[in-house]
Amino acid sequence: MFELDKITRPNILTLQPYSSARDEFTGSKGIFLDANENPFGELNRYPDPYQRELKKIIGGIKNVNENSTFIGNGSDEIIDLLFRIFCNPGSDKALTFSPTYGMYDVAAGINDTELIKIELNKDFDIDFEVIEPFLSDPSLKLILICSPNNPTGNCLNPEVIKKILEYFNGIVLIDEAYIDFSETASFINKIESYSNLVICQTMSKAYGLAAARVGMAFSNSSIIDLLNRVKPPYNVSELNQKAAIDTLKRSDEFESNKKNILAEKEKLLTELQSLNIIKKIYPSEANFFLVETENANAVYNILAEVKIIVRNRNEVVRNCIRITVGSAPENEALIKVLKTI
Ligand SMILES: *Cc1c(COP(=O)(O)O)cnc(C)c1O
Repeated sequence: MFELDKITRPNILTLQPYSSARDEFTGSKGIFLDANENPFGELNRYPDPYQRELKKIIGGIKNVNENSTFIGNGSDEIIDLLFRIFCNPGSDKALTFSPTYGMYDVAAGINDTELIKIELNKDFDIDFEVIEPFLSDPSLKLILICSPNNPTGNCLNPEVIKKILEYFNGIVLIDEAYIDFSETASFINKIESYSNLVICQTMSKAYGLAAARVGMAFSNSSIIDLLNRVKPPYNVSELNQKAAIDTLKRSDEFESNKKNILAEKEKLLTELQSLNIIKKIYPSEANFFLVETENANAVYNILAEVKIIVRNRNEVVRNCIRITVGSAPENEALIKVLKTI
Protein backbone atom coordinates (compact mmCIF):
# COMPACT_ATOMS: atom_id res chain seq x y z
CA MET A 1 0.00 0.00 0.00
CA PHE A 2 1.16 3.52 -0.77
CA GLU A 3 1.57 5.65 2.37
CA LEU A 4 2.78 9.18 1.76
CA ASP A 5 4.23 9.63 5.29
CA LYS A 6 6.29 6.45 4.91
CA ILE A 7 7.98 7.48 1.69
CA THR A 8 8.55 11.16 2.52
CA ARG A 9 11.99 12.00 3.92
CA PRO A 10 11.65 12.37 7.71
CA ASN A 11 13.36 15.80 7.72
CA ILE A 12 10.75 17.07 5.25
CA LEU A 13 7.88 15.76 7.38
CA THR A 14 9.16 17.63 10.42
CA LEU A 15 10.32 20.71 8.52
CA GLN A 16 8.98 24.01 9.79
CA PRO A 17 8.47 25.84 6.45
CA TYR A 18 9.49 29.47 6.10
CA SER A 19 6.57 31.69 6.81
CA SER A 20 6.77 34.76 4.60
CA ALA A 21 5.15 38.11 5.30
CA ARG A 22 2.73 37.31 2.46
CA ASP A 23 1.79 34.02 4.19
CA GLU A 24 0.73 35.80 7.35
CA PHE A 25 -1.34 38.51 5.69
CA THR A 26 -2.85 37.66 2.32
CA GLY A 27 -5.04 40.69 1.48
CA SER A 28 -4.04 42.79 -1.51
CA LYS A 29 -5.03 46.22 -0.16
CA GLY A 30 -3.43 48.05 2.75
CA ILE A 31 -0.33 49.82 3.97
CA PHE A 32 2.35 47.16 3.76
CA LEU A 33 5.08 47.69 6.31
CA ASP A 34 5.67 44.00 6.95
CA ALA A 35 8.24 42.75 4.41
CA ASN A 36 10.95 45.41 4.39
CA GLU A 37 10.03 46.25 0.81
CA ASN A 38 10.75 49.59 -0.78
CA PRO A 39 7.60 51.73 -0.97
CA PHE A 40 8.66 53.13 -4.40
CA GLY A 41 8.64 51.55 -7.84
CA GLU A 42 6.68 49.12 -10.00
CA LEU A 43 8.26 45.81 -9.05
CA ASN A 44 8.86 46.74 -5.41
CA ARG A 45 6.53 44.19 -3.85
CA TYR A 46 7.12 40.48 -3.38
CA PRO A 47 4.96 38.33 -5.66
CA ASP A 48 2.16 36.06 -4.47
CA PRO A 49 4.07 33.01 -3.17
CA TYR A 50 1.17 30.71 -4.14
CA GLN A 51 0.43 32.30 -7.55
CA ARG A 52 -3.31 32.24 -6.82
CA GLU A 53 -4.49 34.21 -9.86
CA LEU A 54 -2.42 32.07 -12.21
CA LYS A 55 -3.66 28.86 -10.57
CA LYS A 56 -7.25 29.97 -10.91
CA ILE A 57 -6.84 30.42 -14.68
CA ILE A 58 -4.97 27.13 -15.05
CA GLY A 59 -7.69 25.43 -12.99
CA GLY A 60 -10.32 26.67 -15.43
CA ILE A 61 -8.38 25.41 -18.45
CA LYS A 62 -7.27 22.07 -17.02
CA ASN A 63 -10.31 21.45 -14.86
CA VAL A 64 -8.31 21.01 -11.66
CA ASN A 65 -8.59 22.48 -8.22
CA GLU A 66 -6.20 25.20 -7.05
CA ASN A 67 -5.01 23.04 -4.16
CA SER A 68 -4.15 20.27 -6.62
CA THR A 69 -1.90 22.65 -8.58
CA PHE A 70 1.69 23.69 -7.99
CA ILE A 71 3.69 26.20 -10.05
CA GLY A 72 7.43 25.79 -10.40
CA ASN A 73 10.21 27.87 -11.88
CA GLY A 74 9.96 25.61 -14.93
CA SER A 75 9.15 21.92 -14.61
CA ASP A 76 12.85 21.42 -13.94
CA GLU A 77 12.28 22.90 -10.48
CA ILE A 78 9.42 20.44 -9.90
CA ILE A 79 11.61 17.47 -10.83
CA ASP A 80 14.32 18.66 -8.42
CA LEU A 81 11.80 19.23 -5.61
CA LEU A 82 10.47 15.65 -5.95
CA PHE A 83 13.98 14.28 -5.45
CA ARG A 84 14.49 16.54 -2.46
CA ILE A 85 11.20 15.54 -0.84
CA PHE A 86 11.30 11.78 -1.39
CA CYS A 87 14.87 10.58 -1.96
CA ASN A 88 17.26 10.42 1.00
CA PRO A 89 20.65 11.40 -0.48
CA GLY A 90 23.16 8.58 -0.56
CA SER A 91 20.71 5.74 0.09
CA ASP A 92 17.50 6.02 -1.95
CA LYS A 93 17.00 5.35 -5.64
CA ALA A 94 14.92 6.62 -8.54
CA LEU A 95 14.11 4.90 -11.82
CA THR A 96 13.55 6.09 -15.36
CA PHE A 97 13.51 4.68 -18.89
CA SER A 98 16.15 5.42 -21.49
CA PRO A 99 16.50 7.19 -23.79
CA THR A 100 14.71 10.08 -22.09
CA TYR A 101 14.97 13.68 -20.87
CA GLY A 102 18.48 14.42 -19.61
CA MET A 103 17.42 16.50 -16.59
CA TYR A 104 16.33 13.40 -14.63
CA ASP A 105 19.94 12.26 -14.52
CA VAL A 106 21.17 15.69 -13.48
CA ALA A 107 18.52 16.09 -10.76
CA ALA A 108 19.35 12.60 -9.42
CA GLY A 109 23.06 13.44 -9.42
CA ILE A 110 22.57 16.73 -7.60
CA ASN A 111 20.50 14.93 -4.96
CA ASP A 112 23.00 12.06 -4.62
CA THR A 113 20.37 9.53 -5.67
CA GLU A 114 21.12 6.52 -7.83
CA LEU A 115 19.05 6.65 -11.03
CA ILE A 116 18.24 3.20 -12.43
CA LYS A 117 17.81 3.41 -16.20
CA ILE A 118 15.74 0.75 -17.90
CA GLU A 119 16.05 0.59 -21.67
CA LEU A 120 12.79 1.12 -23.51
CA ASN A 121 11.96 -1.71 -25.91
CA LYS A 122 12.40 -1.51 -29.71
CA ASP A 123 9.17 0.50 -30.01
CA PHE A 124 10.48 2.85 -27.30
CA ASP A 125 7.85 1.55 -24.87
CA ILE A 126 7.90 -0.03 -21.39
CA ASP A 127 7.62 -3.79 -20.88
CA PHE A 128 6.00 -4.22 -17.49
CA GLU A 129 7.76 -7.56 -16.85
CA VAL A 130 11.12 -5.84 -17.10
CA ILE A 131 10.47 -3.31 -14.36
CA GLU A 132 8.22 -5.43 -12.13
CA PRO A 133 11.15 -6.83 -10.06
CA PHE A 134 12.34 -3.29 -9.26
CA LEU A 135 9.00 -2.12 -7.88
CA SER A 136 9.33 -3.97 -4.57
CA ASP A 137 12.72 -2.43 -3.70
CA PRO A 138 11.99 -0.34 -0.56
CA SER A 139 14.80 2.10 -1.40
CA LEU A 140 13.18 2.95 -4.74
CA LYS A 141 11.17 6.13 -4.11
CA LEU A 142 10.54 7.80 -7.43
CA ILE A 143 9.76 6.64 -10.98
CA LEU A 144 10.04 9.23 -13.77
CA ILE A 145 8.03 8.61 -16.91
CA CYS A 146 8.20 11.03 -19.83
CA SER A 147 5.17 10.80 -22.15
CA PRO A 148 5.26 11.90 -24.93
CA ASN A 149 8.88 10.93 -24.48
CA ASN A 150 11.79 13.21 -25.28
CA PRO A 151 13.75 12.49 -27.55
CA THR A 152 11.73 9.65 -29.11
CA GLY A 153 8.40 11.53 -29.51
CA ASN A 154 6.02 8.65 -28.71
CA CYS A 155 3.61 8.28 -25.81
CA LEU A 156 4.22 5.35 -23.49
CA ASN A 157 1.51 2.70 -23.14
CA PRO A 158 -1.11 4.09 -20.69
CA GLU A 159 -2.09 0.58 -19.54
CA VAL A 160 1.48 -0.14 -18.45
CA ILE A 161 1.69 3.24 -16.72
CA LYS A 162 -1.51 2.40 -14.82
CA LYS A 163 -0.01 -0.93 -13.72
CA ILE A 164 3.09 0.86 -12.43
CA LEU A 165 0.87 3.32 -10.52
CA GLU A 166 -0.99 0.38 -8.96
CA TYR A 167 1.94 -1.87 -8.07
CA PHE A 168 4.51 0.74 -6.98
CA ASN A 169 4.41 2.14 -3.46
CA GLY A 170 6.48 5.20 -4.27
CA ILE A 171 5.89 8.37 -6.30
CA VAL A 172 5.27 8.20 -10.06
CA LEU A 173 5.98 11.39 -12.00
CA ILE A 174 4.52 11.57 -15.49
CA ASP A 175 6.25 14.37 -17.35
CA GLU A 176 3.75 15.61 -19.93
CA ALA A 177 5.80 18.51 -21.32
CA TYR A 178 4.51 17.75 -24.85
CA ILE A 179 0.98 16.60 -24.06
CA ASP A 180 -0.65 19.65 -25.71
CA PHE A 181 0.63 18.43 -29.09
CA SER A 182 -0.57 14.87 -28.54
CA GLU A 183 -3.78 12.98 -29.30
CA THR A 184 -3.20 10.69 -26.33
CA ALA A 185 -5.13 11.61 -23.18
CA SER A 186 -3.34 13.28 -20.28
CA PHE A 187 -3.27 11.50 -16.90
CA ILE A 188 -4.39 14.75 -15.25
CA ASN A 189 -7.89 13.45 -14.50
CA LYS A 190 -6.35 10.49 -12.62
CA ILE A 191 -4.72 12.51 -9.83
CA GLU A 192 -7.50 11.62 -7.39
CA SER A 193 -7.56 7.94 -8.48
CA TYR A 194 -3.87 7.28 -7.73
CA SER A 195 -2.51 8.77 -4.51
CA ASN A 196 1.10 8.38 -5.73
CA LEU A 197 0.66 10.20 -9.05
CA VAL A 198 2.26 13.54 -9.91
CA ILE A 199 1.87 15.07 -13.38
CA CYS A 200 4.07 17.83 -14.64
CA GLN A 201 3.36 20.04 -17.61
CA THR A 202 5.02 23.23 -18.78
CA MET A 203 4.38 26.53 -20.49
CA SER A 204 7.76 26.21 -22.26
CA LYS A 205 6.60 24.26 -25.33
CA ALA A 206 3.06 24.53 -26.74
CA TYR A 207 2.45 27.80 -24.84
CA GLY A 208 5.62 29.32 -26.26
CA LEU A 209 6.81 30.72 -22.94
CA ALA A 210 10.16 29.02 -22.38
CA ALA A 211 11.80 32.31 -21.35
CA ALA A 212 9.33 32.84 -18.51
CA ARG A 213 10.11 29.54 -16.72
CA VAL A 214 6.64 28.37 -15.70
CA GLY A 215 6.08 24.68 -14.96
CA MET A 216 2.98 23.09 -13.46
CA ALA A 217 2.51 20.06 -11.23
CA PHE A 218 -0.85 18.42 -10.62
CA SER A 219 -1.43 15.95 -7.80
CA ASN A 220 -3.54 15.35 -4.72
CA SER A 221 -3.42 18.14 -2.13
CA SER A 222 -1.18 16.18 0.29
CA ILE A 223 1.63 15.96 -2.25
CA ILE A 224 1.04 19.57 -3.36
CA ASP A 225 1.39 20.61 0.32
CA LEU A 226 4.81 18.95 0.46
CA LEU A 227 5.93 20.79 -2.68
CA ASN A 228 4.77 24.07 -1.14
CA ARG A 229 6.71 23.38 2.08
CA VAL A 230 9.99 22.80 0.28
CA LYS A 231 9.95 25.35 -2.56
CA PRO A 232 11.68 28.71 -2.21
CA PRO A 233 8.93 31.07 -0.98
CA TYR A 234 8.90 33.34 -4.05
CA ASN A 235 9.89 30.79 -6.67
CA VAL A 236 7.92 32.33 -9.57
CA SER A 237 8.57 36.03 -10.16
CA GLU A 238 5.79 38.58 -10.60
CA LEU A 239 6.92 39.17 -14.22
CA ASN A 240 6.72 35.46 -14.98
CA GLN A 241 3.33 35.05 -13.32
CA LYS A 242 2.02 37.99 -15.36
CA ALA A 243 3.48 36.62 -18.60
CA ALA A 244 1.82 33.26 -17.93
CA ILE A 245 -1.54 34.86 -17.10
CA ASP A 246 -1.44 37.02 -20.26
CA THR A 247 -0.57 34.02 -22.42
CA LEU A 248 -3.31 31.84 -20.93
CA LYS A 249 -5.88 34.59 -21.49
CA ARG A 250 -5.02 34.67 -25.19
CA SER A 251 -6.32 31.18 -25.86
CA ASP A 252 -7.05 31.80 -29.58
CA GLU A 253 -3.40 32.58 -30.14
CA PHE A 254 -2.43 29.36 -28.36
CA GLU A 255 -4.82 27.35 -30.53
CA SER A 256 -3.77 28.97 -33.79
CA ASN A 257 -0.03 28.63 -33.06
CA LYS A 258 -0.54 25.00 -32.12
CA LYS A 259 -2.51 24.34 -35.29
CA ASN A 260 0.20 26.01 -37.33
CA ILE A 261 2.93 23.90 -35.67
CA LEU A 262 0.96 20.67 -36.20
CA ALA A 263 0.33 21.53 -39.87
CA GLU A 264 4.03 22.33 -40.33
CA LYS A 265 4.85 19.04 -38.62
CA GLU A 266 2.92 17.11 -41.29
CA LYS A 267 4.61 19.07 -44.08
CA LEU A 268 8.03 18.49 -42.55
CA LEU A 269 7.30 14.77 -42.24
CA THR A 270 6.44 14.49 -45.91
CA GLU A 271 9.59 16.37 -46.92
CA LEU A 272 11.83 14.30 -44.62
CA GLN A 273 10.34 11.05 -45.95
CA SER A 274 11.44 11.99 -49.47
CA LEU A 275 15.12 12.35 -48.50
CA ASN A 276 17.58 9.52 -49.09
CA ILE A 277 19.83 10.49 -46.19
CA ILE A 278 16.97 9.87 -43.75
CA LYS A 279 16.81 6.18 -42.86
CA LYS A 280 13.97 6.30 -40.38
CA ILE A 281 11.57 8.81 -38.83
CA TYR A 282 10.15 7.71 -35.51
CA PRO A 283 6.42 8.36 -34.97
CA SER A 284 5.96 11.53 -32.92
CA GLU A 285 3.18 12.95 -30.79
CA ALA A 286 5.29 15.98 -29.96
CA ASN A 287 6.63 19.04 -31.81
CA PHE A 288 9.79 17.28 -32.93
CA PHE A 289 10.99 14.24 -34.83
CA LEU A 290 13.71 11.79 -33.94
CA VAL A 291 15.24 10.80 -37.27
CA GLU A 292 17.91 8.27 -38.11
CA THR A 293 20.43 9.36 -40.71
CA GLU A 294 23.43 7.65 -42.31
CA ASN A 295 25.78 9.74 -40.23
CA ALA A 296 24.30 12.01 -37.55
CA ASN A 297 27.56 13.78 -36.71
CA ALA A 298 28.12 14.75 -40.35
CA VAL A 299 24.52 15.95 -40.83
CA TYR A 300 24.70 17.93 -37.60
CA ASN A 301 27.94 19.62 -38.66
CA ILE A 302 26.74 20.50 -42.15
CA LEU A 303 23.61 22.11 -40.71
CA ALA A 304 25.51 23.91 -37.95
CA GLU A 305 27.85 25.44 -40.51
CA VAL A 306 24.90 27.27 -42.06
CA LYS A 307 23.55 28.11 -38.61
CA ILE A 308 20.73 25.58 -38.58
CA ILE A 309 20.92 23.96 -35.18
CA VAL A 310 19.36 20.57 -34.54
CA ARG A 311 19.99 18.27 -31.58
CA ASN A 312 22.55 15.58 -32.24
CA ARG A 313 21.35 12.51 -30.32
CA ASN A 314 23.96 10.15 -31.75
CA GLU A 315 25.24 9.41 -28.24
CA VAL A 316 21.74 8.43 -27.11
CA VAL A 317 20.23 6.71 -30.18
CA ARG A 318 22.84 5.81 -32.78
CA ASN A 319 22.93 8.15 -35.79
CA CYS A 320 19.81 10.00 -34.73
CA ILE A 321 19.15 13.71 -34.69
CA ARG A 322 16.17 15.42 -33.10
CA ILE A 323 14.54 18.10 -35.20
CA THR A 324 12.13 20.61 -33.67
CA VAL A 325 9.27 21.73 -35.92
CA GLY A 326 9.92 25.40 -36.66
CA SER A 327 8.05 28.02 -38.66
CA ALA A 328 7.37 27.44 -42.38
CA PRO A 329 10.44 29.40 -43.57
CA GLU A 330 12.66 27.72 -40.95
CA ASN A 331 11.55 24.23 -41.98
CA GLU A 332 11.98 25.12 -45.68
CA ALA A 333 15.52 26.33 -45.02
CA LEU A 334 16.29 23.05 -43.24
CA ILE A 335 14.92 20.88 -46.04
CA LYS A 336 16.76 22.91 -48.68
CA VAL A 337 20.09 22.16 -46.98
CA LEU A 338 19.26 18.51 -46.31
CA LYS A 339 18.49 18.04 -50.01
CA THR A 340 22.08 19.02 -50.87
CA ILE A 341 23.62 16.31 -48.68
C1 LIG B 1 11.27 20.82 -22.45
C2 LIG B 1 10.98 19.81 -21.41
C3 LIG B 1 10.57 20.21 -20.13
C4 LIG B 1 10.39 21.66 -19.83
O1 LIG B 1 11.06 22.07 -18.76
P1 LIG B 1 10.80 23.55 -18.22
O2 LIG B 1 11.72 23.60 -17.06
O3 LIG B 1 9.36 23.64 -17.83
O4 LIG B 1 11.15 24.50 -19.32
C5 LIG B 1 10.25 19.24 -19.20
N1 LIG B 1 10.33 17.94 -19.51
C6 LIG B 1 10.69 17.53 -20.73
C7 LIG B 1 10.70 16.10 -21.03
C8 LIG B 1 11.04 18.45 -21.70
O5 LIG B 1 11.44 18.02 -22.90
